[in-house]
Amino acid sequence: TGARTPLMAGNWKMNINHVEAVHLVQKLSWTLQDKKHDFERVEVAVLPPFTDLRSVQTLVDGDRMKIRYGAQDVSKYDAGAYTGEISAAMLAKLGCTYVLTGHSERRQYHHEDDALVNAKTVKALEAGLTPIVCVGEGLEIRKADGHVDHCLGQLDAALAGLKPDDVRKLVIAYEPVWAIGTGEVATPEDAQEVIAAIRSRIEETISPSVADSVRILYGGSVKMASAGGIMAQPDVDGCLVGGASLQVDEFAGICRYLD
Ligand code: PEP
Repeated sequence: TGARTPLMAGNWKMNINHVEAVHLVQKLSWTLQDKKHDFERVEVAVLPPFTDLRSVQTLVDGDRMKIRYGAQDVSKYDAGAYTGEISAAMLAKLGCTYVLTGHSERRQYHHEDDALVNAKTVKALEAGLTPIVCVGEGLEIRKADGHVDHCLGQLDAALAGLKPDDVRKLVIAYEPVWAIGTGEVATPEDAQEVIAAIRSRIEETISPSVADSVRILYGGSVKMASAGGIMAQPDVDGCLVGGASLQVDEFAGICRYLD
């Protein structure tokens, strides 16, 4: 994967309160430290609920951990009368590196459309955060063989109007909806097919240099046992991990896929 540093990001979803978060991150740090994990070689990030972020920040800063963290969603607004929303500037102030945009659960349960995903991605970049922009098809589309077109459509919409240097900085995650939380992991070849198509699209619409630099992750029921095969694909630059990121040994094992 050349200069693209692999990224393993754990999406905790709506699990783990702030007290439990401190335990989980501390254990993860110890486990990786035990293995002398080189964070420059494989980057590690956790994406806890908003309410955990301040505690995670305190722990990570206090122990000078190299684990990065971020949020699962962000507002498209800057500030003001938007009850319940969290701004990109607030996340940046908490030391977040990453924020998910367009996760399929946001699209599905909160009716987030492509325009909103684009707006959130823009706000994240403006605040200096690195968006992890999620795309992926449902089962019906996959069965009808429309998965590549579907994902490229979501990609074009999410990245609309962005400067090439912004696209270079962000992270894309291919997450087939049928593989999320189902135990149904896509084959390494399934992941490679769509991820390579995403990279080609960026090569055509933006530039070969951006396409070569941008990191593209796979997500969907990744476990320690499946991470190595997925990571062996030439265009896969990391994993977005849901369920398995709640178990320290599993997630550490995924981060240690090179062992
Ligand atoms: C996710 O929600 O981003 C995800 C990949 O979940 P899981 O690993 O549980 O399928």
